[in-house]
Amino acid sequence: DQVNQRKAVDAYVKKHLLPADEGLENAYTNSTKKGLPMIAVSEIQGKFASMLTTIGSARNVLEIGTLGGYSSIWFAQAMKGRGKVTSIEVIPHHRDVAIENLRTAGVQVPEEVDVLLGAALNILPRLAAEIEKREREPFDFVFIDADWDNQWNYFDFGVKLSKGKGSVIYIDNAVRNMLESGIVGDAEREKDAIDLVANVGADDRVDAVVMQTVGSKSYDGFLLAIVK
Ligand code: SAM
Repeated sequence: DQVNQRKAVDAYVKKHLLPADEGLENAYTNSTKKGLPMIAVSEIQGKFASMLTTIGSARNVLEIGTLGGYSSIWFAQAMKGRGKVTSIEVIPHHRDVAIENLRTAGVQVPEEVDVLLGAALNILPRLAAEIEKREREPFDFVFIDADWDNQWNYFDFGVKLSKGKGSVIYIDNAVRNMLESGIVGDAEREKDAIDLVANVGADDRVDAVVMQTVGSKSYDGFLLAIVK
């Protein structure tokens, strides 16, 4: 059936295009062993997102939602020698496991990946103030992968904390959120709900698209925006 076919294609792609990487594999297995939920991006999604930072020559990545540091390791590897990742995580145990996994993968903490502990909506204004005072560099790639209720708030901060023209905002799980909120095809709900896609579409600061995806993980998709 289609699910098995998707898994087989992912496995085939992985075999040929994603060489085994002990650090990344350990991040999955150690996270599971330490009781973290299995909600990290897939190998292929991790590689794809990290390739976007290479395409854009990103030097300063902001990640919202660290979990066990799996996607952070992908970004750190892609940015090696070029830049750094700042990742925000609200659960102390997730942060601790992430730091462990990052170090096992040979990533320097905090030089290459700095994990900030706290609720993103508390940390982001602090980052904004530091950027304002020129104590911190603005970001050129923002990866949003935390609680779905705040996707729009995180997006808004992402644009504000960005370097400006050409900076990229990537929101994971945008399609599942869209479908589960019941917004798509429901004119009544569309009027009331905080609709990420409608908000982004009405936002003059960016140009954006949503890409639906399939793979070893279920059907979903991401929103990708470029700051104008
Ligand atoms: N990016 C990770 C990866 O692919 O390896 C997966 C992140 S996981 C989907 C979401 C993470 O966001 C969880 O670890 C969760 O604890 C964290 N999170 C949830 N709400 C948050 C908030 N308000 N602020 C910061 N982190 C939050």
